[in-house]
Amino acid sequence: MSRAAFVFTLVAAMPSVLASQTAASGNEWPPLKVVDIRWIDTTVSACTDFAQFANGAWLAHDTIPAAYSSSGVTRDMSDRNELVVRSVLEDAAAHRSSFPPDSTPRKLGTFYATCMDSTAIEAAGVRPIRSWLRGIDSITTRTRLVPQLAKLQVLGVNVAFRYSPDVDPHDATHYLTWLYQGGLGLPDRDYYFTQGPAADSTRQAFVAHVAKMFRLAGQDSASAGAAAAQLMALETALAQASLTRVDRRDPLKTDHPMSAEQLAALAPHVGWPQYFRAIGLSAPVRKVNVTAPEFVRRVDSLLQATPLATWRAYLTYHTIASAAPWLSTPFVQEDFAFRSRFSGARALLPRWKRCLREADGDLGEALGQAYVAKTFSPEARDRARAVIDDIRAAFRERLLRLTWMSDSTRAHALDKLARMGEKVGYPDRWRDYSRLNVSEGAFVLNVARANAFEWQRTVNRPGTPVDTTEWGITVPTVNAYYDPSKNEMVFPAGALTPQTFDPKADDAANYGSLGGSWAGHELTHGFDDEGRHYDAKGNLRDWWQPSDSTHFVEQAALVERQFNEYIQVDTFHVNGKLTEGENIADWGGLLVGFDALQKALARDGRPGLLEGYTPEQRYFLGYAQSWRVHVRPEQLRTRVTVDPHAPERWRINGPLSNIPTFAQAFGCKEGDPMVRPKDKVPTIW
Ligand SMILES: [Zn+2]
Repeated sequence: MSRAAFVFTLVAAMPSVLASQTAASGNEWPPLKVVDIRWIDTTVSACTDFAQFANGAWLAHDTIPAAYSSSGVTRDMSDRNELVVRSVLEDAAAHRSSFPPDSTPRKLGTFYATCMDSTAIEAAGVRPIRSWLRGIDSITTRTRLVPQLAKLQVLGVNVAFRYSPDVDPHDATHYLTWLYQGGLGLPDRDYYFTQGPAADSTRQAFVAHVAKMFRLAGQDSASAGAAAAQLMALETALAQASLTRVDRRDPLKTDHPMSAEQLAALAPHVGWPQYFRAIGLSAPVRKVNVTAPEFVRRVDSLLQATPLATWRAYLTYHTIASAAPWLSTPFVQEDFAFRSRFSGARALLPRWKRCLREADGDLGEALGQAYVAKTFSPEARDRARAVIDDIRAAFRERLLRLTWMSDSTRAHALDKLARMGEKVGYPDRWRDYSRLNVSEGAFVLNVARANAFEWQRTVNRPGTPVDTTEWGITVPTVNAYYDPSKNEMVFPAGALTPQTFDPKADDAANYGSLGGSWAGHELTHGFDDEGRHYDAKGNLRDWWQPSDSTHFVEQAALVERQFNEYIQVDTFHVNGKLTEGENIADWGGLLVGFDALQKALARDGRPGLLEGYTPEQRYFLGYAQSWRVHVRPEQLRTRVTVDPHAPERWRINGPLSNIPTFAQAFGCKEGDPMVRPKDKVPTIW
């Protein structure tokens, strides 16, 4: 989605794309409310386990549908959003021949229709990608290897390393060439080394899956098995040289600017000028940021030393795997069977949902325009902006009050906050799809064309001014992000609907959900363990007084230790270091949202009890219910390794047990599980 190096989203990247209250079957879906008191489990004390108190009654009756790895707020909101998007796509598909040939509605309609045409897809089998596979088979000399690798990258196949034109960390007004690690079939480098029977069985399942894909593409069993083993050896070597997720969250550990000459010295066998030409760069590269130099060095030596047959096996598998969801049923099912080990989903999503999500991913702004026209009112946008502005004002006051922060750091922080951009609802300028070619033929080729279109759209960005109007997620998405290199927060229309936000709901509910759990969270990302390394303009620059840095690091370590103690699933603990930034953002967001609510109550008048709860209680309920979710254990296990967000239960109980106003609102006492001892409570915001 977003191409920026570090972007802090609110939730793990979940597929998502509203507002109609009618499900596909014609059944009425109950309207979502920001605070829904029917979900409260009154058999549990709020001071013992607030996550259970706020959502327990819902959890007790919820069943995760077979095709999902989790259910709750995101799914409920996405389901509603997807109905709107579906009507746009079905309409475009049905009437596509009446639209002008190169018009965007025609492209949308053709894209969706060719995805839904399962008859043609079944009949074609692996044929649509045969020419790519033949290209890989033609790698019989080393000189052919890098050009083929480059060609596959442009089509959207993640092999070896990843080129991306992103914001220059030392000149945030311009793009720079970035090289990232990449090219692994398992979800993280750790999967290649973790000890124990579960990890062994995952690796065995991966090798078996790779062999199965080879057989489906026509190889005999013996050569498929041998090729799969070779691929595993190559990927293990790549994984060994890969940075861990924790290191990848550290902007200082991934900042390695170098000249073209230094890159050539680091990796002499790649032939960089030829590689850059092959991916479509029209001007020579002079400067590059190599996020993981050891990784690029390893790729270089593997390009030289690893048998070509192994490279062919590796490129072949990744090409088949990236196409598999859009090929015939045996490929789709093998792809799903392997991925479901990590997601826990028991069944495929219906075809229309898979097609809709791919359309959102590839033609998102064309869809977003139609989506906004159908659902998002100017009033909703204005009201959401008002809440976000109150959050900004509350954070400013908090910065002014902080006793641990020196005046110099404070002045920079205030400047950063004042300059922080905010995008709400939808882009001011929509993406131009006129150069995208979509045709009535194999759908997998339309996906490849869309990938190549996106590649061409951005490939020549290095050295050019940064496009500050660009969005990193699509409009119907139920998520938000903060981008430190642009110093901006982004809230798409798809997220600004119930349950996150309702212009008709009480302030307390909206300030708890949109205010605390969304806007306050994203805003404080600008000042968390990662975001604080960037200045007001988005440059990687240390603007902290050393004593302030020391204080921050010590206090952040308390947050890390707090979360290390929590159980994620089975015997796995939360990774406090990996989730540190998100946990600081949740906690900071809650503090700032609460201040903003107090100001709103002072300004607009204080209502009495609503549905039996005070505004302060409804504020914390709004926050906790925004994390109403039920997750399959398989996904929780995967998230331990790959997700910088702690499980939702701890995103509720973790920060709230550090907040005195929470204890006050619910009458919790020292010694209650939801009140952590004072000496363990960090002081940051
Ligand atoms: Zn976040």
